[in-house]
Amino acid sequence: MVGMKSYDMSKKWYERARSVMPGGVSSPVRAFKAVGRLPLFIERAEGVWMYDVDGNRYIDFILSWGPLILGHNYPDVLKAVHDACERGSSFGMSSKPEVLLAEKIVSAFPCIDKVRFVNSGTEATMSALRLARAVTGRNKVIKFDGCYHGHGDAFLVKAGSGGLTFGTPSSPGIPEPVTQSTISLPYNNIEAVRSAFEEWGEDIACVIVEPIAGNMGVIPPVEGFLEGLRTLTKEYGALLIFDEVITGFRVEFGGMSTRTGIEPDMITLGKIIGGGFPVGAYGGRAELMDKIAPEGPVYQAGTLSGNPVAMTAGFTTLELLEQLQPYSKFEEQIDSFTRKLKELFERKGVPVSFGIAPGFFSFFLREEAPVNLDDVLESDTELFSRLFQNLLNEGVLIAPSAFEASFLSVRHDDAILEQALEAYERALAKL
Ligand code: PLP
Repeated sequence: MVGMKSYDMSKKWYERARSVMPGGVSSPVRAFKAVGRLPLFIERAEGVWMYDVDGNRYIDFILSWGPLILGHNYPDVLKAVHDACERGSSFGMSSKPEVLLAEKIVSAFPCIDKVRFVNSGTEATMSALRLARAVTGRNKVIKFDGCYHGHGDAFLVKAGSGGLTFGTPSSPGIPEPVTQSTISLPYNNIEAVRSAFEEWGEDIACVIVEPIAGNMGVIPPVEGFLEGLRTLTKEYGALLIFDEVITGFRVEFGGMSTRTGIEPDMITLGKIIGGGFPVGAYGGRAELMDKIAPEGPVYQAGTLSGNPVAMTAGFTTLELLEQLQPYSKFEEQIDSFTRKLKELFERKGVPVSFGIAPGFFSFFLREEAPVNLDDVLESDTELFSRLFQNLLNEGVLIAPSAFEASFLSVRHDDAILEQALEAYERALAKL
């Protein structure tokens, strides 16, 4: 029997943080508001374990929101990063690690000839959109309700993730003309996309999509959806952008584009390719990418872009993934874990369904697995909050929102997953 954990030190740090940082955090979801509690302050992490400043430890299913596919502090990555730091933390000049990482990405994605590095997924999608607008000479962009592409102005229209959690479909501070160019449609509804193209086809620069939605819980694409997007964008001369910030190197060595054989015009990446450091990237065919400065006229730059330490962490991570090929193991583990979890929920009489993808998954507190945001919003968020708290107390850390994914790392072995299931069982019993 586990007693109640103490969170006094986290609370102290939160009080200090709150007086000097908005909401006490650097990114809204970390405030734990959606589950009605105070944020955790983390002291350190190792493998699957996170340790907070009160000395509590948790099996981590957040993994920094996806990047840490090798778990925390994987020894080879740690050593490579350490060595890179000794050579210098930043040069503001070209260096070998960015070429090595670019080559790795290009080799993994047939539809990427060239790649530009930035510092976050947000920057990747913003820059990809600018490029799409530049090459098509059009302004409109189609996105999908509940898909999150970072906090660029054009995308904060009925955005998922943080925006959704706080019930604000868009943010103040975004000029109306910007969002007027954004068409937000229900995920998995190709007919809605067809209608939009029929109405505005001549003005649509691009369609951007998470090829597996991962920011409203996990929702895989229904059959024909991604294929339909490819067909329609080709028909109307618009570009198709797969936002693979989550799925890139998570679903296989490559992403959803390689897994499905559907070739988008551009791919945005982030998370895993930074090996735990701030990195984003966008890539595509050479004739597109060569429109970017200094080769072409489309401006985009960054003081710390291609940072040697981050590039080294990313390259080492990809090299290890290529060797370890953890992907089929993840699928087996998630299949088994979610089946057992379903039994536990059912035994407790709690309606549940699952969104299952290779390498990540989520549960929804509703009977039927959702296919779009409207479905997701029917989940029982109050029950989720209580379950979240109980899990935390049992030493399992999942994302503090009913609309986020759980991620696996190579360090989540079967014994750890059994331990997590036992924690779920106790957490459910105490609901
Ligand atoms: N695109 C997707 C699919 C994401 O999940 C995220 C972040 O979660 C982003 C873009 C934005 O990335 P970042 O938070 O690095 O700016």
